[in-house]
Amino acid sequence: MVQSNPRLSFLISEKIGDRWITHLDELRNLEPFAEDHEFRKRWRETQEGTKAELAAYIKQRLNIEVDPQSLFDVQVKRLHEYKRQHLNVLHIITLYNRIRQNPNLDITPRTFIFGGKAAPGYKMAKLIIKLITSVGDVVNHDRDVQGRLKVVFLPDYNVTLGQRVYPAADLSEQISTAGKEASGTGNMKFAMNGSLTIGTLDGANIEIRQEVGEENFFLFGLTAPEVADLKEKGYSPRDYYNGNPDLKAVIDAIAGGTFSPDEPNLFKPLIDSLLDRDDYLLLADYQRYIECQDKVSEAYRDLDRWSQMSILNTARMGKFSSDRSIRQYCQEIWKAEPIAVKLCGYDGSQEGIGVRCDL
Ligand SMILES: *Cc1c(COP(=O)(O)O)cnc(C)c1O
Repeated sequence: MVQSNPRLSFLISEKIGDRWITHLDELRNLEPFAEDHEFRKRWRETQEGTKAELAAYIKQRLNIEVDPQSLFDVQVKRLHEYKRQHLNVLHIITLYNRIRQNPNLDITPRTFIFGGKAAPGYKMAKLIIKLITSVGDVVNHDRDVQGRLKVVFLPDYNVTLGQRVYPAADLSEQISTAGKEASGTGNMKFAMNGSLTIGTLDGANIEIRQEVGEENFFLFGLTAPEVADLKEKGYSPRDYYNGNPDLKAVIDAIAGGTFSPDEPNLFKPLIDSLLDRDDYLLLADYQRYIECQDKVSEAYRDLDRWSQMSILNTARMGKFSSDRSIRQYCQEIWKAEPIAVKLCGYDGSQEGIGVRCDL
């Protein structure tokens, strides 16, 4: 946070001092300020500054104009079917279809930001990247959209780029099929920097929700036991497709070449995989994801309340410290005692960061 999110770090230190940098649970001292309207306003202005910096990067790197006031909806992580970047795309197309049906619809402006690499031989993952950029090419230039939706795929995702992205997110997409994500760490980086999470009960999402409070977390989707039950009973994705007109319209748009007019069959392998197998249950979770996203859009209309939730996310993320984690391993697993280390060029009068003299 100190390195990648200086604006927020300064604001926090101004309020609660800088001991949180080495004792992360002290972020808890921010909690009372979540009730302070003046502080919420400064929190929001700080995040707007950070979002404007990412907007400038997007303009420079991709020549796409994004509105820093819009909801920055971010999914950055390796491309994988279980992480369900394509479920996020189904939501984008759902919003796009709503606008096409009624261009005057009052919708919450959103900027969808993706980043992540596909393994070299993973064709489906590469096709999902192609889907994201193709949907962006159509949505970003459609006059009826009037700039209310933008879709951005950031190339060459890595830690350095992550340092620009995590601090600038309003919404963190953690939407893996329940039971598939061991932990995730991106989810922690986002929440610590004040993003709200939309997520399934999977991996560390579960502990994050426990810590930040269920009222400050957008939960949706099947649970791991429900996923197992559904597969056991025999899952038929086509029944969801036939039974849900909005979902059908989204799938038909992709399959019909709306986003690949020069190559209408481009996404056929992806469509076939969803309708015939759908191993990661996108179609089963679609409706609940859309309804949850509608709640997110509604919540973002009350920026003061959103900022309160954002402050509480940061304030309650102290548990997700690597120091705490290693300390607990030492106590519970390794039975290792801490030892004092003398730091070079450092008088030791306070705890601090330095280089060990004996190295
Ligand atoms: C944190 C991080 C990840 C892991 O992200 P998950 O959302 O936990 O999968 C992957 N790549 C980079 C560059 C990261 O910074």
